[in-house]
Amino acid sequence: MVPSAARADRLVELLRERELDSLLVTDLVNVRYLTGFTGSNGACVLTSDERLFLTDFRYVSQAQEQVRDFERLPAGRELASDLATHLRGRAGFDDAHLTVRTHARLEEKVAEGVELVAAGGLVEGLREVKEEGELALMREAARLATEALARTLDGGLAGRTELELARELEQALRDGGAQEPSFPAIVAAGAHGALPHAEPRDAGIPRGALVVIDWGARVDGYCSDCTRTIATGTLDGRGEEVYELVRRAQAAALAAVRAGAEKRAVDGVARSMIEEAGHGERFGHGLGHGVGLEVHEGPRLTKQAEGELVAGNVVSVEPGVYLPGELGVRIEDLVAVTADGAEVLTSFSKQLTTVE
Ligand code: ZN
Ligand code: ZN
Repeated sequence: MVPSAARADRLVELLRERELDSLLVTDLVNVRYLTGFTGSNGACVLTSDERLFLTDFRYVSQAQEQVRDFERLPAGRELASDLATHLRGRAGFDDAHLTVRTHARLEEKVAEGVELVAAGGLVEGLREVKEEGELALMREAARLATEALARTLDGGLAGRTELELARELEQALRDGGAQEPSFPAIVAAGAHGALPHAEPRDAGIPRGALVVIDWGARVDGYCSDCTRTIATGTLDGRGEEVYELVRRAQAAALAAVRAGAEKRAVDGVARSMIEEAGHGERFGHGLGHGVGLEVHEGPRLTKQAEGELVAGNVVSVEPGVYLPGELGVRIEDLVAVTADGAEVLTSFSKQLTTVE
């Protein structure tokens, strides 16, 4: 997708607010967001009246196609020296992404009077508020992901390995038209599901277990992220009870997502229900995170998060309860905050589903 020129306009507004004369953008995701460039070496410099994009000879023709609203300049493979000559006055740089080596190089090459100022997070802040075109891609990614899981589950679960399932799901995403999986799919059965970031193992999925499946698609750069926990037969022990608790907590938190809602309060909705049920200690991560060009970005929904959700935010809502040595349950949806409520982008059923 070709980014709107409005993104760079908004960024220049922010420069004024921060009293910066220029800004250097080096993080490739941020560069893509502003310019549309998808290559692996490029950077831009913005001032109140200039929008410059620099890349090396390998990407000149790609940049010609992709970068419309920036003046394209050729540069050496190591961009730093060429970038330095375009910085002026108080020059912001992204302290979260710029390497120490590049920073030293810039210091050495900038003109006299140029002051390098740490100014990370400006583009990330813009990325937190999605435009309609971005939402459309994420809707499509979520739709493809739902279809891919449905197709994969048609082949059954019990007796196949976590790794087989994860690979098949990723293949189904590609076959369905996704550019790639937005992250390596998680398939974790039984006690393995108690690890929130479990890596699929070469181990058979038993009957009568809960299987946590966390997967997503990428479409034109934009990610989806979804988790479902599926049963492979009649559950003994606390499986059903824990599932029902997470399902209710997830639904309540989802219903709390709207413009103006305090981020930490949305986290609190699910967390307090899980605490009341005696599993507070077993929900060790935040409720959710922003998703966009990256599968984890701002805003975060955590106990410590400050501020309110605004229309255009897209966040995951993913409470979980993890009982070590026993089972894990996580249910995750991707939801867009709208002017008058919220739109859930992911759509696979959340009733406890059994697939043997
Ligand atoms: Zn996920
Ligand atoms: Zn997530």
